[in-house]
Amino acid sequence: MRFRDIIGQRDLIEKLIAAVNNGRIPHAQLFWGAEGSGQLALATAYAQYINCRQKVQASSGEDLHGLSADSCGKCPSCLKFQQIAHPDLHFVYPNNADGSRIKKDSQSLDYIDTWRELMLANQGIFSLNEWTEAMNIGTRQPIINVRDCRQILQTLSLKPAEAAFRVVIVWLIEKLDVTTSSILLKTLEEPEPQTVFLLVSENPDRILPTILSRTQMVKVPRIEASDLEAYLQQKGMGAEDAKDLALRSQGNLVEAKLLSGNNETRKNFHESFADWMRLCFKVDMPALVALGERMKDLKGEPIKLFLQSCLNEIRACLLISNGCGQWVLGDAAEKSFWQNFSKFVTNANVRQYYDLFNDAIYQISRNADIPTLFTDLSIKLCRILAAARK
Ligand SMILES: [Zn+2]
Repeated sequence: MRFRDIIGQRDLIEKLIAAVNNGRIPHAQLFWGAEGSGQLALATAYAQYINCRQKVQASSGEDLHGLSADSCGKCPSCLKFQQIAHPDLHFVYPNNADGSRIKKDSQSLDYIDTWRELMLANQGIFSLNEWTEAMNIGTRQPIINVRDCRQILQTLSLKPAEAAFRVVIVWLIEKLDVTTSSILLKTLEEPEPQTVFLLVSENPDRILPTILSRTQMVKVPRIEASDLEAYLQQKGMGAEDAKDLALRSQGNLVEAKLLSGNNETRKNFHESFADWMRLCFKVDMPALVALGERMKDLKGEPIKLFLQSCLNEIRACLLISNGCGQWVLGDAAEKSFWQNFSKFVTNANVRQYYDLFNDAIYQISRNADIPTLFTDLSIKLCRILAAARK
């Protein structure tokens, strides 16, 4: 991946280019930012750039999409990086046994083909959830385990095959099994020459402080709405939809992809949410239990998408209750519902809604029983609404 293929992030890329041009290539960096911001894609493009043998400058006349320099994309090193197949590019990512092909004791290398496929199909931007589904490991929790750490050590004990800088990219370092962290710490502390560690994180507050203190932090901001909008249009989306989706997803490409299903789904989701809240308001338990049963038909990803859309509904209501209704996007029916419902979404209780829906999304990824989960959610929502009414 070349820098010019990254969505937005031009200021950050220029800083990375400047550091490399000044000969400052730290041996361990942490690319961190919110999900869907592209930190893995950036780390991969950076790895390609530092190893490119024919870096191009904007002065050469080549279109670098507004950048001052980039990797060439054509030299033998770039070609291998672009195929995620360079012998000195090593990836470590959360994994677990799938129970069929890999019975137990999995490691990153077991899934390298799946990884390559997902990386290339999504330009390096996808969620842990998408990755877990690609590995097909069911409800097993993906982690970076002791075998992965030992594999890194073994790799580093050999000489680099051909690259100027051997690169180890660790995706979601916060998933490192803490009991094995000492192995990695030692390598980070006494780095091998010409070896670069690029750690990638969505939750740096869950990373061990001892690891954090050994890395240089690179904050990856959310993708600007205008950049995401341009990207979605380039992918064939209509101008209006692209603008709407870029704003709704708040620069999170993973969410934008999920929401882009179509407008019809979004409207259905809104109506389902509105009906659900009306039933909670009336504390109509028989109808709420029936609703939970019906939700069974929406399995896996759609149900998660629905719950994520509930978070957007709450966000719209919160903006209205704080007098920022002009930032809310939606049609007349949606806006009218939010206007009414915003009386029950306040700065004091919004955390409760967020925690409820986020927890439900997590439970779904762990294969929770859907009717039970929805009934439980409904009871809690009834309570929040009752308290807000007082
Ligand atoms: Zn090159």
